[in-house]
Amino acid sequence: MFVKGCGKSLVVQTTKPIFAAVLRKKHMIFTSNLTKTAAAALLSLSVITVSAQDKPVPQAPADCPLAGVNLTALDEVLVAPAVQKADGYALYDSWNTSRAHCYANTAKPDSFEIDLSGFHMPIASNRVSSNFGYRPRFHRMHKGMDISAAVGDTIYAAWDGKVRVVRYEANGYGNFVVLRHPNGLETIYGHMSKQLCSTDQEVKAGQPIGLAGNTGRSFGPHLHFETRLLGEAIDPALLFDIPGRKMQSDHFVYRRSDSVNGIVMARK
Ligand SMILES: [Zn+2]
Repeated sequence: MFVKGCGKSLVVQTTKPIFAAVLRKKHMIFTSNLTKTAAAALLSLSVITVSAQDKPVPQAPADCPLAGVNLTALDEVLVAPAVQKADGYALYDSWNTSRAHCYANTAKPDSFEIDLSGFHMPIASNRVSSNFGYRPRFHRMHKGMDISAAVGDTIYAAWDGKVRVVRYEANGYGNFVVLRHPNGLETIYGHMSKQLCSTDQEVKAGQPIGLAGNTGRSFGPHLHFETRLLGEAIDPALLFDIPGRKMQSDHFVYRRSDSVNGIVMARK
């Protein structure tokens, strides 16, 4: 076998073909003296070759890699899965268990495909009492969707994920929970009467995580539900049709160019 490197040909010696020839003819060695002689000659040749291997084999200079073997391509063939799903957890480099909003200084990707499969309605009710968007009455953005509820209604994890925050905020979310999901989203559930999960807990889609309530800045029992990617508030109506209890699509592509002051609403 020959391997080219730096314009020189380096000989890589091997004795395998010789041993193979000996093995193939092994049964014949005992049938004739002539064959024995030939085999002995072959064996002696292989011994010479083996002893030759003890000598240092010329090496290519370290700064001149061998050409002709594409190791990167080989790795791709061996490692690349048939279908590669984006790893949403890899978007995040921090795990803050005390604050819902902690990504102001985190760079956002130009785009990211969010896999919406496996979604579970966060509450049995499908009555949207207030949509995502600007509220002139309060002169502020409403960065979530309000779904009507009775105090004590069960609130469920929207996807599989991990509980990041379980806190109380008197002037905001009240009792709230933040989950991080492998699809890259984080979901926030506000105004609960009670939380039923704890920080760092792994949860499954549809698993109860709290009970609906009227805590914090709330004017009647409801679930305040947010969907965010690295803190960017995405209008939940772009992802699902809550009144119709169905998804808008099986995936959603976040594009940084769609974001205005950290808010992603209808496409421009
Ligand atoms: Zn709300």
